[in-house]
Amino acid sequence: MSTDCLFCRIVEGSVPSTVVHETDSVLAFRDIDPQADTHVLVIPKEHFPDAAAMAAADPKLAGEVLAAAGEVAKIDGVDASGYRLVFNTGADANQTVFHAHCHVLGGRNLQWPPG
Ligand code: 5GP
Ligand code: ZN
Repeated sequence: MSTDCLFCRIVEGSVPSTVVHETDSVLAFRDIDPQADTHVLVIPKEHFPDAAAMAAADPKLAGEVLAAAGEVAKIDGVDASGYRLVFNTGADANQTVFHAHCHVLGGRNLQWPPG
């Protein structure tokens, strides 16, 4: 837990969120500024600065984040139509919150390449 980390505060409940799915190790909640009909953030409850750091420290946890992303897609009914998983990492990817998170985006046709 990092007290100056927004997503750690969401995990502890001091910042409210709309939770979609939760396990012992992972929390999934709706993005406050959705970029598609489905836009959910899946995070490990433990703090890691980005996805690579999480995977290096705890590969099982990284797998649990991906499994939860798949559950979110089912919950929102986009598993058949398709969806995108995004881990923005670092400045060129415009990462703004330095607690590992997987964006689950779906519910519309997503363009490629991304902007
Ligand atoms: P990043 O840009 O780091 O990949 O993604 C951070 C995401 O967190 C953004 O999509 C942003 O809209 C979302 N976000 C920022 N603050 C909050 C908040 O207080 N609550 C929720 N639910 N999402 C947030
Ligand atoms: Zn954190």
